[in-house]
Amino acid sequence: MNTSALTEQQQQQLIEVATEALKSAYAPYSQFRVGAAILTARGDIVAGCNVENASYGLSICAERNAIANAIIRQGSDKMNLRAIAVVNSKNVSCSPCGACRQVIWEFGRDAQIIFLGERGWQTKTIRELLPAGFSL
Ligand SMILES: [Zn+2]
Repeated sequence: MNTSALTEQQQQQLIEVATEALKSAYAPYSQFRVGAAILTARGDIVAGCNVENASYGLSICAERNAIANAIIRQGSDKMNLRAIAVVNSKNVSCSPCGACRQVIWEFGRDAQIIFLGERGWQTKTIRELLPAGFSL
């Protein structure tokens, strides 16, 4: 498994794919469109966007949507999440929510998360964002 830091070019590519994905977001309630792009350990880049619902609790985040998309492509036993970039249409600071952090943890114990922080783009590991992730 490749856990080395991503290159600047890889990070930029993930941000670009995530930015393209947010154009597909379905966010009529919050107007907060989010795109995500994951890099799997085998090198695939897979995108996701948020999909809201009139019953708000049924909405799904871009990060989990991208992970589900990658699993469809690779199979759950083979999918290992190396990195994920998250962007939003408001261009505001936004890291993955708690639910997404747990799902990222499930598929990438060393995953790197690229997101817009208070002072620009940041890269943190899932262990930094979720220090005691739940495991069975
Ligand atoms: Zn989320």
